Amino acid sequence: MVPRRKSVCVRVGSVAVGGTAPIVVQSMTNTDTADIEGSVDQVQSLARAGSELVRLTVNNDEAAAAIPHIRDRLAAKGVRVPLVGDFHFNGHRLLKAHPACAEALSKLRINPGNVGRGAKRDPQFAEMIEVACRHQKPVRIGVNWGSLDQDLLTRMMDENSKKAEPDAAIDVMREAIVVSALDSAARARELGLRADQVIISAKVSGVQDLIAVYRNLGARCDYPLHLGLTEAGMGSKGIVSSTAGIGVLLQEGIGDTIRVSLTPEPGGDRTQEVIVAQEILQTMGLRSFTPMVIACPGCGRTTSTYFQELAQKIQGHIRARMPEWRKRRTGVEEMTVAVMGCVVNGPGESKHANIGISLPGTGEHPVAPVYEDGAKTVTLKGGRIAEEFQELVERYIERTYASRNP
Ligand code: SF4
Repeated sequence: MVPRRKSVCVRVGSVAVGGTAPIVVQSMTNTDTADIEGSVDQVQSLARAGSELVRLTVNNDEAAAAIPHIRDRLAAKGVRVPLVGDFHFNGHRLLKAHPACAEALSKLRINPGNVGRGAKRDPQFAEMIEVACRHQKPVRIGVNWGSLDQDLLTRMMDENSKKAEPDAAIDVMREAIVVSALDSAARARELGLRADQVIISAKVSGVQDLIAVYRNLGARCDYPLHLGLTEAGMGSKGIVSSTAGIGVLLQEGIGDTIRVSLTPEPGGDRTQEVIVAQEILQTMGLRSFTPMVIACPGCGRTTSTYFQELAQKIQGHIRARMPEWRKRRTGVEEMTVAVMGCVVNGPGESKHANIGISLPGTGEHPVAPVYEDGAKTVTLKGGRIAEEFQELVERYIERTYASRNP
């Protein structure tokens, strides 16, 4: 197991972040928060996909007024995922004008670069921290590369230019991000926030910057750290860059909660960011969320699309059934299912999995041997191989994993 950096444990509603708590998966809605029904639906889908905290933007009076209704409607549906409010330029005013919003949220996210410029910055930051203290809410001090405190950056750049041997501008920028986060946390503590009410993030959009900034932050404080690239991007680029950055840091024991900030395709599914975050943690052996499907990539031995279709069907079936399995069966999330394209590696990989199927490759005898716990149990053939294999998976789960309510 990877040793984790020591951090304070912060309670965010019912969820523990930091300390020895499991690394928490979080996500953010992209609905208009004032659209109560739309936001409730999306929070529910994100929570159902496995998001353990869900953040919503609170950008105007309508959004702030909607938050308690969103919380109540979710509770009426049995969804108790803690909600996090994202505040920027007018957060101090909204939090004061809408105490029910502050009360309904389980955490406030404050971006110190966006709380006000010049003389307004400190008092507006203080107003938000005072609300957090009054309502006993934790705060994420969330610095973002794109909205870094410009006064601080200018001052640090000026100081650097006066050095006999100035540091590279990129190093000054990275240091300014860390200083902004730590100074803001120190200021919040002076204003009355306890150590176990502070989480820090310092999001950037480049993988090397992310790694450098978080290594530095991790060494200089014991607050829990929220990891993630900002503006990770769309599709495979967003997934790969997030995985590369977050993966390196997690491997070094840095990070107590993660978010994968993917840009969805138009009309795309917002829950993808939750699935990717879970897959990062699960493939690294840090947490288990859902049975893992081990599928070979296919090659010239699998010339039809049958193999890909079967792998996709089984993956989809597992994902769709997991919420139900999770409720009823202990340990099912640790199961491995192998779906292999031919007999070259199929039987071997199937034997290592809890349950595995090896499909016929091109020109092979049209049968599909199934292995359970390392032993061949049945050979499937005909037009219903996918359905019959799914039934075998269901039966394997019933037989192998203890019922949660015996
Ligand atoms: S298991 Fe068979 S089909 Fe899959 S990649 Fe290996 S050789 Fe190709």
